[in-house]
Amino acid sequence: MNSAYASSLSALWKALSLASRERMLFATWGTFLVAGAISYWVEFAVQKHPRSIRSFLNYCFPWRDWKSASARVDVVLYFIGKGTDRLIGGIGLVLVGVLSVYVSRYLDAAFSSTARTNGGVLDVLILGCLFFLAVDFANYTTHLMEHKIPLLWEFHKVHHSASFLSPLTTARFHPLEKMIDSVFSSLFVGLIAGVAKHFYNFSVAELLGIVAAGNAIATLAVLDSLRHSQFPVSFGLFDRVILSPHMHQLHHSVKLEHWDKNMGNKLSIWDWCFRTGFKPDKGEALRYGTGQSEDTDYESVLNCYILPIVKSYRLCKQSLGTESAEVDDTQPIQSVQSTQSLSQLPQTESFMD
Ligand SMILES: [Zn+2]
Ligand SMILES: [Zn+2]
Repeated sequence: MNSAYASSLSALWKALSLASRERMLFATWGTFLVAGAISYWVEFAVQKHPRSIRSFLNYCFPWRDWKSASARVDVVLYFIGKGTDRLIGGIGLVLVGVLSVYVSRYLDAAFSSTARTNGGVLDVLILGCLFFLAVDFANYTTHLMEHKIPLLWEFHKVHHSASFLSPLTTARFHPLEKMIDSVFSSLFVGLIAGVAKHFYNFSVAELLGIVAAGNAIATLAVLDSLRHSQFPVSFGLFDRVILSPHMHQLHHSVKLEHWDKNMGNKLSIWDWCFRTGFKPDKGEALRYGTGQSEDTDYESVLNCYILPIVKSYRLCKQSLGTESAEVDDTQPIQSVQSTQSLSQLPQTESFMD
């Protein structure tokens, strides 16, 4: 490897290591405030309202919504998640490490003549794209299963029970759901990392660095921090490839026609391929929740942790025939979809007014 090539590779590793948790947190709130400032400036200029710091803060952080039970739950789950995420992330890392070593050893034994090479910048970029596509597809698949399998829906319902979306809603998940997501995507990453280790001299830590950097870049590129916000940002024609914030907001809508739509994470191509894509109308206002009366059950942090376990246990008992099955609020939205008419659903209205 010549010195220019080596230095460009070392610069790339340095750039990849920039995606720390603290920097991503800064980028998340920075993006949210910039979007808020642009939206505030345009809206208040058009309506000729006087502008002030106070009205700007109230515009970005509407007190009526931030003091709601839904927002309070988001805040608590966010801070508890800070601790549990490290444990879940650690389990995922161990799984990737073990699987990649096992796969690379298997390939080494099967194709012993293949010599490992030192990967260059292009190899890192190609691997980054491969990891990104694999993780994004894994996320789409697990999300689809969480909507279609009643047992998993009971856990995913915690996220969908939010009646107000803020950047903190991104962390509104039951830890068992996070664990399932982490294990599933780690299997994909571990397999690719194992194949990569068979061909290249990259360590597992370097390969994980590529995965983390790819995720960080994509998170910023798709304006991930706005998907749980009051700003209905669309990418226009690019909504056919990338999942815009407005498309994810529609995923949270109580409207019947929006249920089980836009399951993608960063890319929308999986949704369009598997017919789960739905493009919202420009600026379309949405009301959020599962559309069921049980949404209020999740206005307590304790219930967010306990109810999914209790309800999934009940579902198991029902499926084993030890308890009579009935279509009620404990059923996932897919099960009641055919039995519930539109007129029974709450009327949609904008909380952004
Ligand atoms: Zn969902
Ligand atoms: Zn969401």
